[in-house]
Amino acid sequence: MRRKRIVLNILWLIILFLIPMPLIVILNTQLVASVSDLIVYDFGIVAYVWWLIITYLSIRPSWLDRLIGLPSMYLVHGLLGTIALIAATIHKFLSFSFDQNVKNTGNIAWYLVLFGFFYAVFFMSGWLINYFKIADTLKKKLNHIFKHQVSVWIHRLNLVVIVLIFFHVQLIVRIESITEFMVIFDTYTVVILGLYLFNKIRLLTLDNGTVISNKFLNSDTHELIIRLKDQKRYRPGDFYFVSFKGLKKLGIESHPFSVTSAPKDNLQSVTFTIQNVGDFTNKISKVPTGTKVKLEGPFGLFDKLIRLENVETPIVLYGLGTGIAPLLSIAAEYAGKRPIHVLWTAQSQDKLYYSSKLKGFAAKYSNFRYCEQVHRFKNHQLRDIFSENEISKGQFYIVGPANAIIEIEDNLNSLGVNRNRLNDERLTL
Ligand SMILES: Cc1cc2nc3c(=O)[nH]c(=O)nc-3n(C[C@H](O)[C@H](O)[C@H](O)COP(=O)(O)OP(=O)(O)OC[C@H]3O[C@@H](n4cnc5c(N)ncnc54)[C@H](O)[C@@H]3O)c2cc1C
Repeated sequence: MRRKRIVLNILWLIILFLIPMPLIVILNTQLVASVSDLIVYDFGIVAYVWWLIITYLSIRPSWLDRLIGLPSMYLVHGLLGTIALIAATIHKFLSFSFDQNVKNTGNIAWYLVLFGFFYAVFFMSGWLINYFKIADTLKKKLNHIFKHQVSVWIHRLNLVVIVLIFFHVQLIVRIESITEFMVIFDTYTVVILGLYLFNKIRLLTLDNGTVISNKFLNSDTHELIIRLKDQKRYRPGDFYFVSFKGLKKLGIESHPFSVTSAPKDNLQSVTFTIQNVGDFTNKISKVPTGTKVKLEGPFGLFDKLIRLENVETPIVLYGLGTGIAPLLSIAAEYAGKRPIHVLWTAQSQDKLYYSSKLKGFAAKYSNFRYCEQVHRFKNHQLRDIFSENEISKGQFYIVGPANAIIEIEDNLNSLGVNRNRLNDERLTL
């Protein structure tokens, strides 16, 4: 956790200061303007550079995922979007231009950013829905129209913003004449848009899996096994963005799903456990064997965190519903090698479909414990379930819906588990 925090702090310094710095220094030393005007222009420059960085983060660079994890990357993406909007707003209201084209490009970009920001906060982040029940209910109602894929397209308006601001700057003659500034400005833009396009083309042409089995685990959950074409090693608890090729019903959308299988058992294929919750997942049952699959990833930090831990440290895996998927993968990989305690709760008995597998591990290994229950564990039960050692030293990995995780983490913390030892994966990004 400490390492991750240090990496995150360094990343923020690079993003906030280092990358915009060359443009700021050149503009402030070469443009003849009052100090107050220069500061206002600086706000515009940093907002633009931050949008470029936001665009880069949207391609989910896997090197960054392995350093800080995708959820943290999404958080940086969201926070950077917020401060970029603030910087752009200061720039918009305090700067002045006689040129109508400069004004129009800047104004349209700002309105688009403003709309995109509020849309993303409501439909694409957990900032409201994880904490306010009314927002969650409203989003679920509106989800029939504003499906995730619609939101993704609306979010891509940010690319239009970048193009508008690119021309906005080219149209300002006094800035356009500063060669060093324009070389860096254009290079930043071309490199980021180039990487974005390259990634899109790579994903379009990706073909690295084939469905070899698709069966029901219960009335609303499927187990999908996919044979991997390339042997890029996934780690226990990782997740992929999965999309299917050539199936009109499922379109080209890609959705995140965690691996349920353990790499030590089989590296040729990967298993997913998918619960039907909406448009895409409801159609999973229709996916025939032989369907070609695109797997973007793998992503995930859980295994890295486990490997960094002392082998004696108790590992507590707490799954809610389908949240058990990545935890079963970890349990299967480390059963017998590490002290493991799995807790799994589901809404009904038939949803505890991996029960016998987990009970099997508990029967086979003396350092493996397993507790399951229909409906959540109450606080007084948790107090009895965990050992002193788990409460004081255990590393907790909790996977499930975001609002349930927030509640469980509060409970665990009240039992004495330090928040530094609470690692989670929320089933929404
Ligand atoms: C890291 C991670 C791992 C996951 N692992 C599993 C798993 O192992 N098994 C499982 O059943 N579910 C898993 N999920 C949840 C799964 O991705 C969603 O249930 C699925 O995408 C819902 O799609 P839908 O169209 O059927 O439902 P919808 O009703 O469209 O979506 C329900 C909610 O899922 C989220 N969602 C939808 N599409 C996406 C997307 N493309 N990217 C991110 N979030 C999206 C949105 O918050 C949406 O509100 C995981 C999610 C994440 C973030």
